[in-house]
Amino acid sequence: MFEKLLVANRGEIAVRIMIACEELGIDTVAIYSDADRNSGHVDYADEAYNVGPAPASDSYLDQATIIDVAQRADADAIHPGYGFLAENAEFARRVRGTDGITWVGPPSDAMEQLGEKTKARSIMQEADVPVVPGTTNPVESAEEIRDLGAEYGYPLAIKAEGGGGGRGMKIVHNDSAVEKAFESAQREGEAYFGNDSVYVEKYLEAPKHIEVQVLADHHGNVRHLGERECSLQRRHQKVIEEAPSPALSDDLRADIGEAARRGVRAADYTNAGTVEFLVEDGEFYFMEVNTRIQVEHTVSEEVTGIDIVRWQILVAADEELTFDQEDVDIEGHAIEYRINAENPANDFAPTPGYLETYDPPSSIGIRLDHAVNQGDTIAGDYDSMIAKLIVRADDRERCLARSRRALEHFTVSGVNTTIPFHLLMLNDDVFVAGDHTTKYIDEDVEEAD
Ligand code: ADP
Repeated sequence: MFEKLLVANRGEIAVRIMIACEELGIDTVAIYSDADRNSGHVDYADEAYNVGPAPASDSYLDQATIIDVAQRADADAIHPGYGFLAENAEFARRVRGTDGITWVGPPSDAMEQLGEKTKARSIMQEADVPVVPGTTNPVESAEEIRDLGAEYGYPLAIKAEGGGGGRGMKIVHNDSAVEKAFESAQREGEAYFGNDSVYVEKYLEAPKHIEVQVLADHHGNVRHLGERECSLQRRHQKVIEEAPSPALSDDLRADIGEAARRGVRAADYTNAGTVEFLVEDGEFYFMEVNTRIQVEHTVSEEVTGIDIVRWQILVAADEELTFDQEDVDIEGHAIEYRINAENPANDFAPTPGYLETYDPPSSIGIRLDHAVNQGDTIAGDYDSMIAKLIVRADDRERCLARSRRALEHFTVSGVNTTIPFHLLMLNDDVFVAGDHTTKYIDEDVEEAD
């Protein structure tokens, strides 16, 4: 087993990884920017190193400095968390190329291939995993897109090859909108991801976002840990996630799980990953693979009892998964609420600042993944998440009731938070019935406000 692991991240996910290390008897190394000198993840680590100024590009994204710190600290593994360098195949390759340091994550080749969306779509198609109808090659011209409009019918999504999080995605409803949307998807792809290739998919009007957690080891074992329902999104950003999905039949659930396993095998993928699908009218379509631990991994842990981050580390150390697919039992229900420093009454604008009161709930069925304390300052330099509240109960109805209790007793002052929005959702008939699609908040809730 590793002796000392460097966490190339900050905040709650850095602490989450350090907790797994602590339980495995591995020492931990934190890195921090000037804005994070007093952050929770720095306190939690056995040792900590400054890697530069507040802007992420000068600190948490500085590959050479991070690898240098790992060597100076004598770390024998690097875990990237999510965001920052987590899906950067070049960084993974550099870490692997450094003597004595192991990358806790998937193979660099698999990361690279799955990061190119058209390549990922071809791999899935070959593995008999249904993909959203569209192209498996980049499109070259607006005319080609108009031909696809005639073939599949509008609306179409023009998506950047390297895109994600809705960036570089343009939706077109007719021929005349194609030219402009094509150019702006190319431009955004170039600006955000350094890649101006785009491809085209049929745009589904009211799908559910369902994703499958997978774990694969270096000995040929691939398991899935069931699905997560992540349809509650605001502008393509997840807000509330849960497991299992209230909207899948047992047959569809089994089919999606097996499709995810086939896809992961076909990509020669190992470690933890997530296969994302859109589901509409009882059909499911592959969207993409996230080659990292995800924010919402917690709800899968809660319903399976499997510690995904621990397994990431064990798999990287060549250990074999000790459970079969039949051993994975989904028990009860779990929901995660992202508690962000944002003002829901003002278009969810970030509200960084001083955390005057921070008094989270506790007791039965409550898990908090966080790295803050009362008196901390929430930096404006990074994402606005303060904490993840994860609520667990025997079934969804009790989980919703417990969630109301927990959120009503979650006291934060000094900054605005998304807590009032979550409480609103817990009184919303569509969400409570589990009928919400990815369009629900943007089209129905916000317009009604
Ligand atoms: P990511 O899953 O990395 O955020 P995308 O940018 O591909 O990647 O997608 C963001 C969100 O946009 C998805 O979660 C989904 O809600 C929506 N979306 C993407 N592609 C489609 C599509 N073809 N039809 C309908 N909605 C889509």
